[in-house]
Amino acid sequence: MGIEPRDLNVHQERRRQLIEQLRASGIRDLTVLHAFDRVPRHLFVPEAFEARAYLDEALPLGHGQTISRPSTHALYLQALRLEGDERLLEIGTGSGFQTALLATLCRQVFSIERVPELAARARARIEALGFTNVVIRAGDGSHGWRRYSPYDGILVTAGAKEVPSPLLRQLRVGGQLLIPIGDRQSQELHRIVRSGEETMEDEVIARVRFVALHGLGGLEVQDEQVSKW
Ligand code: SAH
Repeated sequence: MGIEPRDLNVHQERRRQLIEQLRASGIRDLTVLHAFDRVPRHLFVPEAFEARAYLDEALPLGHGQTISRPSTHALYLQALRLEGDERLLEIGTGSGFQTALLATLCRQVFSIERVPELAARARARIEALGFTNVVIRAGDGSHGWRRYSPYDGILVTAGAKEVPSPLLRQLRVGGQLLIPIGDRQSQELHRIVRSGEETMEDEVIARVRFVALHGLGGLEVQDEQVSKW
């Protein structure tokens, strides 16, 4: 990707500053901060934005999608309180940056991305970094991925109108779902724990802003509905 050794030093310094900034903003989990040191974010953004890769901002990925702000990823990772042995499902791979962060913190990550080009690019980056515990699939993730369920955690990284119920069924008892629920302007990040076979505990942990989830429970208006008006 055209990275010279000299650039790597510049990036390392910027990466340290970003980690310091995350720490100062309240991310205290050292394993989470360490994950940001292990995964070079500049390899997950389009080349034109490489110089901005270690600022705490979302950046365009093409196809109308964005890589989220590092502080949003840190919020998700910290909320999950991973111990290292988990199997996770991520919906909305996007750049694959969060997928890679997760891969450093748990046993296995399954991730689904709707846009095939983004899924292919994320897969190539993650393979190039040598991760062997990640499976990325192109498709609609709003119904989850039953084949590898139940999951210890499911992360939705696109904005929903409501919780797609198949996701709750694919959590193990004690597992948790992180999902932004709201409208297109902003959403509340919910942490829903499946505390028993039929019981859920739901708390709001932050206000966030994501691009729309498509499919079941999603915020994306279908073309047919738009054309009615
Ligand atoms: N964590 C990613 C976020 C990318 S933005 C990153 O920081 O790079 C959200 C992504 O969700 C987009 O790439 C979008 O295409 C994808 N998405 C939206 N609805 C989806 C669905 N139903 N299934 C799978 N992916 C979906």
